[in-house]
Amino acid sequence: MTEPNLRMEEMTWPEVGQALEAGFTTVVVALGATEQHGPHLPLLVDAARGDRLGLEVARRLGNALVAPTIRVGCSEHHMAFPGTLSLRRQTLEALCMDYTVSLARHGFRRVCFVPSHGGNFAPLAEMLDDLRSAVAPDCAVDAYSDLMGFMAFWKNAVSIEAPGLEDRVGGHADISESSEMLCIRPDLVHESRAERGHVQDFDEELAERIFRDGFRTVTPNGILGDARGMSADIGERCIASAADGIAAALDASD
Ligand SMILES: [Zn+2]
Repeated sequence: MTEPNLRMEEMTWPEVGQALEAGFTTVVVALGATEQHGPHLPLLVDAARGDRLGLEVARRLGNALVAPTIRVGCSEHHMAFPGTLSLRRQTLEALCMDYTVSLARHGFRRVCFVPSHGGNFAPLAEMLDDLRSAVAPDCAVDAYSDLMGFMAFWKNAVSIEAPGLEDRVGGHADISESSEMLCIRPDLVHESRAERGHVQDFDEELAERIFRDGFRTVTPNGILGDARGMSADIGERCIASAADGIAAALDASD
């Protein structure tokens, strides 16, 4: 049996209505970004990864559709690189609020926000209470907002698929993210331009420095970690590992 299309924006309104009646009352919203991703990847990485991650999380949650990915996010810390677009926190919150209210009005009973971009995690955690109080209690609003947890999914995946290369996981345009793009949009990956960036374990201190001083002061080429050694096998495992972990965390919070 072929899987039904879960992407709401590709469905007709009668199909969405039938899906809701059939019990597809959960909806996943990915929060992406349009920002620099090193010299070898396009600006759409986090938006394209959000499209895929949202779908994978919806499959795992079950009875879930996927709303259109929010394709621009909070990327102020990447603005020193040409092309990056950034939303103010209140703009992202307004978007998430309007998504939530719209979806609840159609009868969705659970809205799950899933960031595919590091800069969206903290704003999402902060706005969650407001999103919840914007809808009636019969509609749950959940979010995955554990940035360090997300990094651990990637590290695990690379350590299994390419043992010894896990120190190349830095969290941005690195071996894991580049590998995911080899699966999602290989036509946009310039593999010969893949380089080493700033290599350091991603921890709270580094995260604070990046959000305070900006990405470019930490890594002039825009890579955190090392992009070399990418492969589609690593990419599929990274996608699956993140989707498994996020779906499990969302179910635990339910
Ligand atoms: Zn990214």
